Amino acid sequence: MIRGLRLNRRKPISDYHMHTPLCGHASGQPEEYANHALKIGLKEIGFSDHAPFVVKPLPGITMRMNELPLYHKMIEDVRTRFKGRLEIRTGIEADFIPGYEKQTKAILDAYPYDYVIGSVHFIKDWGFDNPEEREKWSEHDVNTVYRDYFELLRASARTDFFNIIAHPDLVKKFGHRPAQDITKDIEQTAKVFKETGVAIEINTSGRRKTVGEMYPVLKDLTIYCGAGVPLTFGSDAHKPEEVGCDFDKAVDLAKKAGYKEYVMFKERKIYRRVSL
Ligand code: ZN
Ligand code: FE
Ligand code: FE
Ligand code: ZN
Repeated sequence: MIRGLRLNRRKPISDYHMHTPLCGHASGQPEEYANHALKIGLKEIGFSDHAPFVVKPLPGITMRMNELPLYHKMIEDVRTRFKGRLEIRTGIEADFIPGYEKQTKAILDAYPYDYVIGSVHFIKDWGFDNPEEREKWSEHDVNTVYRDYFELLRASARTDFFNIIAHPDLVKKFGHRPAQDITKDIEQTAKVFKETGVAIEINTSGRRKTVGEMYPVLKDLTIYCGAGVPLTFGSDAHKPEEVGCDFDKAVDLAKKAGYKEYVMFKERKIYRRVSL
């Protein structure tokens, strides 16, 4: 009984990464996500649906430009409905596409956000984590893909558009592992994250994918912790019952990596630090 209570208290109280049906591949209404969050004892959640893609519309993958007003209205509505019971933050998950900084900035400046999650899902025009483009891995050298991926992560942090860098080793999603040691790449990435002031997330959705483990792996997380990079937690829920998924395991991972606290955002700034 006592042990259960203690474990409960250690779980993060905030989940900052969840989607809405507007992206076209998530199910359930925001209200259902909020209800699930309440049910499992979270105090704060943030929606972070896929921002409109800057190169061309990607139906089924991201929201469209003309859906942004509805996105904000949906969040505003749940915020009102859950007032006093659950804090609801407005976030968004935006892709980093080099060469499209102006377009990305315009999208992110159009509405106020509590935080913006920056994601690398594309290397050049290859959606390396998209199940439909999975065969293209065979045309690529895994070491090079990893090197390119972490270079893009660093470049994304340097844009100053993002507060949180999403799933910071998403490149492992289908289980491809580099033959080369990438420690230096991670150390360099951690240095850039620290300098640019971005946080990272432990994203539990990797456990539900081929790779079967959270993003990022313990070794990387330990390096980010050592560099002083702030931490958030995200389930990357694409259905209501995934909210807060595996957060007990996520806390264990954070502590093993050396993290003593995680952070919460409001109006694009860290407003609260919570001990682990
Ligand atoms: Zn998604
Ligand atoms: Fe993502
Ligand atoms: Fe996501
Ligand atoms: Zn995501």
